[in-house]
Parts: sequence; structure tokens; C-alpha cells
Amino acid sequence: MVNIILLGPPGAGKGTQAKRLEEARGMVQLSTGDMLKEAIAKGTELGKRVEGIMARGELVTDDIVIGLIEAKMKDRARGGFIFDGFPRTLKQADALGDLLARTGETLDAVIEMQVDDAALVARITGRFTCGNCGAVYHDLTRPTKVPGVCDVCGSTNLKRRADDTEETLKTRLMEYYKKTSPLIGYYHAKGQLSAVDGLADAGVVASAIAKVLDKA
Ligand code: ADP
Ligand code: ADP
Ligand code: ZN
Repeated sequence: MVNIILLGPPGAGKGTQAKRLEEARGMVQLSTGDMLKEAIAKGTELGKRVEGIMARGELVTDDIVIGLIEAKMKDRARGGFIFDGFPRTLKQADALGDLLARTGETLDAVIEMQVDDAALVARITGRFTCGNCGAVYHDLTRPTKVPGVCDVCGSTNLKRRADDTEETLKTRLMEYYKKTSPLIGYYHAKGQLSAVDGLADAGVVASAIAKVLDKA
């Protein structure tokens, strides 16, 4: 079993690659962003608490996301977990280390998806997803085959995120550089970091990740 973290700024391609890994290797994607968005959509107490924070592009508190991850990790994943958008702070990284240690599991690779800020604006403003199956699309780089219809499940419920604006991206990027980018040094020091070029075509990125996993 292989457990990995996909690390990178908003729009780096974490969700896209996580979905590919689920299909190719039977791994299970754990996206705290998706869990939080689900809570908002359902109108839960948690959803109400985080809605404003997420709309502004700020990070929600560590305890919230650690709790979400802990609950999901109770169901063991045969192919291993893909942590997507978690951890985002050093406190979350330590908590993940503790959770894995408690279940006797390992963290096998941390994949840093390297991109540049200019590309992220285009990535974020063109992004839309399937509200039914979570498939990730892009107006220019990955449009649906039939306009308005999900390639994977046929749903016409295609959605854009409220926080995917150029303005909010600035806050999200600043949060990334301030709070999340220190994880690059942290995992490098632990000898667990591998970098891939996130600006390459999605298939090329997938091959680069596969190479890392086959060595892990
Ligand atoms: P992206 O795919 O653009 O990186 P996500 O879907 O992962 O964004 O996250 C959306 C929002 O959810 C973040 O801007 C933040 O407000 C919140 N969020 C998601 N994961 C975390 C986390 N691990 N810690 C704190 N906040 C988080
Ligand atoms: P993240 O989860 O890191 O925020 P996503 O996987 O949601 O990123 O990707 C952001 C946007 O960029 C989506 O619209 C996606 O279709 C597109 N995208 C992802 N990977 C690539 C790539 N390698 N080349 C071009 N566009 C990509
Ligand atoms: Zn779909």
C-alpha cells in the first residue's frame, strides 16, 4: 500500500492527478477541499462555519481539517491514500504523521507539483467540475467532448467554484506561500520529497508521478 501527498498551490493539478491515480491504481483520494465544499452544499453546522473563510480564500483552522481526515482514514484504502490539499500547514503535517503512525502506516512519497503563478490564473479561471462525479475540466486545456455534458458520467450538472476568481486566487496564493510552502522544506528534510513539472501536459505529469510511485 502506498500513501502519498500531492503538494502544490491552487490550480497546480492536484485534483486532476488524484482522479487519474484513483482510476489507474485503485488509490483513494482524500481532498479536504472537497469535504469542506460538501459540508457547505449540505448546509451542515461545519459548512456554515467555513463558508465565509473559504469564499475569501483563507485557510480554515487546522483542527477542522485534521478531524475530517481522521474520520475518513478509518476506512482503510486498499490501494493507499492520496492526500490532496492536505496537509497545508506544519501542524497538519505533524498530525498526519501521528495518524499514520497510529495505524502502522507509512507516508511513501510527497509529490511537489511545480507551477508558476502566471499559469495558475489561467488554470483557475478556466476550471469547472462535474457536480455529480467530481471530474475536473478546463475551458481550454480539458473541455468536455460534448459541451455541457460530463465525459465520465453524462451529468449536465457542471459547476464553477465561487472562489475561482482572479481576486480570490491572490489570497489563496499568499496563504500557500506563507503557510503551506514550508512543507516543501519539511518533507525534503525527511527525504520524502519529489518534484514534478506541473506545467507539462496532464498525461506527462501523470507519467512523472507514476515513476515516483514505482520507486516508492
Ligand atoms: P485548490 O484545489 O484550489 O487547491 P481546495 O479545493 O483544496 O483548493 O481548497 C479550497 C479551500 O478549502 C481552501 O482555499 C481553504 O479555504 C479550504 N481548505 C481545503 N483544505 C484545507 C486544509 N488542509 N487546511 C485549511 N483549509 C483548507
Ligand atoms: P488543484 O486541485 O491543484 O487546484 P486542478 O486539478 O483542479 O488543480 O486543476 C486546475 C485546472 O487546471 C483545472 O481546470 C484542470 O482541468 C486544469 N489542469 C490540471 N492539470 C493540467 C495540466 N497538466 N495542463 C493543463 N491544464 C491542467
Ligand atoms: Zn461526471
